[in-house]
Amino acid sequence: MSFDQIIAVDWSSSSTASSAKPVANAIYVGSKVRGQPADVQYFRTRLSAMDAICAMLDRAQDAASRVLVGFDFGFGYPQGFAQALTGQSSGLGVWDWLAERIEDGPDNKNNRFEVADQINRALDSIGPFWGCPRGAETDALRQRGSERDPLQFPERRTVEALTSSAQPMWKLYTPGSVGGQSLVGLPMLAKLRARYGGGITVWPFETGFAKPATNIVLAEIYPSLFDATLRMGDDGTIFDVLDARQVRAVCEAFENAELDALFGAGFDRTTDAKAAQIASEEGWILGVRKQKTDGDSLTPPPLGNDCFAMPQGVSWTPVDEALDQLKDRVRAVTAIETIAVKDAVGRYLASDVFAQRANPPHANCAVDGYGFSADVILDGPNELPVVMGRAAAGAPFSGAVPKGHAIRILTGAVVPSGVDTVVLEEDCTVEADEQGQPIRIAFHGGLRKGANTRKVGEDVMKGDVMLHAARKITPADAAFLTAGGISDIDVRAPLRVAVISTGDELVEAGRTAKAGQIFDANRPMLLSMITAWGFEPVDMGIIRDDPDALKAALDEAAKSADVILTSGGASAGDEDHVSKLLQSSGSLAWWRIAVKPGRPLALAMWGGVPVFGLPGNPVAAFVCTAIFARPAMICLAGGDFAAPQAVTVPAGFSKRKKEGRREFLRARLRNGLAEVFASEGSGRIGGLSWAEGLVELPDEAQEITSGTPVRYIPFSGLGLSV
Ligand code: AMP
Ligand code: MG
Repeated sequence: MSFDQIIAVDWSSSSTASSAKPVANAIYVGSKVRGQPADVQYFRTRLSAMDAICAMLDRAQDAASRVLVGFDFGFGYPQGFAQALTGQSSGLGVWDWLAERIEDGPDNKNNRFEVADQINRALDSIGPFWGCPRGAETDALRQRGSERDPLQFPERRTVEALTSSAQPMWKLYTPGSVGGQSLVGLPMLAKLRARYGGGITVWPFETGFAKPATNIVLAEIYPSLFDATLRMGDDGTIFDVLDARQVRAVCEAFENAELDALFGAGFDRTTDAKAAQIASEEGWILGVRKQKTDGDSLTPPPLGNDCFAMPQGVSWTPVDEALDQLKDRVRAVTAIETIAVKDAVGRYLASDVFAQRANPPHANCAVDGYGFSADVILDGPNELPVVMGRAAAGAPFSGAVPKGHAIRILTGAVVPSGVDTVVLEEDCTVEADEQGQPIRIAFHGGLRKGANTRKVGEDVMKGDVMLHAARKITPADAAFLTAGGISDIDVRAPLRVAVISTGDELVEAGRTAKAGQIFDANRPMLLSMITAWGFEPVDMGIIRDDPDALKAALDEAAKSADVILTSGGASAGDEDHVSKLLQSSGSLAWWRIAVKPGRPLALAMWGGVPVFGLPGNPVAAFVCTAIFARPAMICLAGGDFAAPQAVTVPAGFSKRKKEGRREFLRARLRNGLAEVFASEGSGRIGGLSWAEGLVELPDEAQEITSGTPVRYIPFSGLGLSV
């Protein structure tokens, strides 16, 4: 059984009708009837699009054909919202709630910001919804997300953590936001349900993670997940718009999908505790899989085959532009798993973490001393009777301390009722009874109220975001999270990086090298860089310049790793077997980056896995890996694309640099000056070994003499220690 027709809708929350000519960010409805080419229609308003969709569904119903209708906005909200808004944890309940309140006219005029404001108020908070035009701002609906109250709900749905470019449902305004589309879309879907009654089901709200049985199925889709760039329109202007190409790609992708796998989304409904809750409340994006590995983990879809496509030009791309391009194209590809905080150091967080508990959970005492109410303390000498008992860490004092009395209190103790200030024991004269119990203390006043105490939540309040997604967990984070009541977190699985050396001249270290042969120096270098960055190295050995052997190695690497680094053979010459083979995959792009040392960087996809074809020359391989592959791999691993940490220091060398490309020199700091290696010869691996960092010279021409400020990137700034 499969669908006879797929309809894919790219929605819009626009408040006015869009222009007569097809434009981006408007409504596109793709439809593909089995056996016929896909067709895409453009609509200027939501109501006209819905009329057309209903007409298609009416026809399908008459013909008893099966139709999958996908809409590209969130069908549900993060966990807890439905219950708070409607009193039940049902995504469909939210649809009905919105349908009663959203007004949406034939000219697209609608009240989505008013309704969002109303929801924020009903929840008694600033937020969770945010973002609106200037005039629509209220004290509950703000223009900036950072002005919201501590969030009562997660920022993202579970599925959104797998599609890193997906925007949170709460964000209603500014480019790329989808929250507004759901507010005006869900009421329309509620109407579709009313119209087709038992003939329609909503996946996964009504079906769980299982194949629906009715003829019409509604599901959430995310067209950007599909590879649309390769399907340029050949038949008319409408396909010049990316949205139009994308909905067509969705139709084509779903037409032949295996339905049990598609609707199951990788969940095991019998054992997966989270599945039922996600299915009833948050919803899911069709085509995204939660993949079960050994642990409980979610795997995002692979990158598209056109991931590295570059317009082929004659000019060289500046380094910064190349880095921007890379940043745009890669995203996290590793699975998400829930693990104990103590085991998570070095891993990338997959979602924001909210404090489960305030730290400190109660006001507590910062020193050993005596506590009292500051109200009765004089600036001069004071004498206070000491009550029986004491307050210690883990052993609170249960009574109240009367005004004018003091209590013995120790570091970490909960501050007892009646106490707001503590004086250090060293600053007191203590009178004790025969048993050594303090009965009176004398000390000098002038203490600030609250002295030597820690306020409840001064570190973090319950519900605050403690750490954001994409952070690499440090030992200090482990302490912080644990203090906030967090024991387990969602993190990315370690990125597996395969390393292949290629070349007939290469010999493995320790073997005998004949005349004309050289030892494979790149592999030990690249494998250790990968380990230093916290990725998992996968050593694929040396591969001869032989297409079959290379192909087998790439196939194997694509199976066992998330990204592949090759070195050698990546230029465009006769013996450049890596590039020839990668070219056969249809995805090879040479990035002609204006950098020295370097050559065109060969980027490609092999079996769904990105490949960095590095130059064979070890110095160039090192620089390309550190400057280009590293930030891309950090993104693939679930982190944020970040420039290396650098410092500006005076040069301890002279050089006349020509215009046109960026240069990285092997360098080190001595006496506060950056010195560079005597030779710039790219064959000098010894110079790389001598270096403790790189001097980065700008794209422009520069005359450097001793003392000229230069940018120095210590290897530690590249995550490599010296
Ligand atoms: P290719 O990019 O294959 O043209 O190689 C450029 C230069 O780097 C040649 O001199 C190769 O012999 C050398 N080379 C390639 N791979 C390695 C390696 N793994 N270790 C050391 N040198 C290499
Ligand atoms: Mg070679």
